[in-house]
Amino acid sequence: MRKQGADPLSSSRTDSPAAVNPAVAYARTPAPAADECAWCGHRLGAEDEHLPGRIRCARCGVATTSPWPTDEQLAEAYAVWYRPSAGRFSGVGDAVLKRTRSALANRLQRVLPRGPVLDVGAGDGTLVAAFRRHGREAVGVDPYASGDSPHVRAVDFEEMTGGWSAVIFWHSLEHLRRPVRALRHAADLVVPGGVLVVAVPNAASLQARLFGDRWLALDLPRHLVHISPPALLSEIEALGFRVERVSYLRGGQVLFGWLHGFVGRLPGHPDLYDTIRRNEARQAAQSPAFRLYALAGAVAALPLSLVGTAIEVATRSGGTIYVEARREAKTS
Ligand SMILES: [Zn+2]
Repeated sequence: MRKQGADPLSSSRTDSPAAVNPAVAYARTPAPAADECAWCGHRLGAEDEHLPGRIRCARCGVATTSPWPTDEQLAEAYAVWYRPSAGRFSGVGDAVLKRTRSALANRLQRVLPRGPVLDVGAGDGTLVAAFRRHGREAVGVDPYASGDSPHVRAVDFEEMTGGWSAVIFWHSLEHLRRPVRALRHAADLVVPGGVLVVAVPNAASLQARLFGDRWLALDLPRHLVHISPPALLSEIEALGFRVERVSYLRGGQVLFGWLHGFVGRLPGHPDLYDTIRRNEARQAAQSPAFRLYALAGAVAALPLSLVGTAIEVATRSGGTIYVEARREAKTS
């Protein structure tokens, strides 16, 4: 149970979206020391598992990106190519993205109490817009907000206050320098009976283990922590939430993780994620012939990828984990 008396925000809960301080930069969230586990704070040493680009903590099982990127390196990693205003993906990709966000909003509409929704790492505001189409107040925060959506604010999540029927981390928790602190802040913001929603890559998944250093969702250096389900679920429960739903498919990107992994094993290691992005959204240029090669590889890898996805879902070790957890109505 959370100690309400120690929570300066609990007295200011309202049903309206919170006041924010627009002057706050993302980088103001203090970074953990370079040799600390970004999840549990354990001092990383020789007993922890040193892997290319990250160190897995022996205490909590979460890996921390190493070397820990500077603010400048992260700004570079989120440069305009990452999320251009014209959309990230070519062809039907952006439409699929919009459809899946609509499906998430539809689902959450059925399980949330009344009140506004806060989307952390809202990007261009696709999920926020989906909620607003239901007539629900919804606000997003994203340090790299494009400014295209009036409902997505370029502020630090930890500057947000107020009471929210849901706080949603849709593939954003792993981008934060202090993910557990962010979860604790979310616990302060979610009203009793409200829901915390988290979707993150599952670093303990079959595909993560199989594809190793080339796994899609490693995404260095943007992903700062590489989370396993036990670490995530135990933290959420420790914050006074009751886990109501865990899915190893709903978090998305499971099948794509397999396709990306198999294609990345072809000669030349094509990056399928780059292939499906628009030209201006691509990290490195790809010739039309190379794109065709990568896409043909994806088609060939589809049957095996479907099998991999089915195994992951059946064994609850999917490439992503999705959690809905309700804040207990009464705290003691
Ligand atoms: Zn740890």
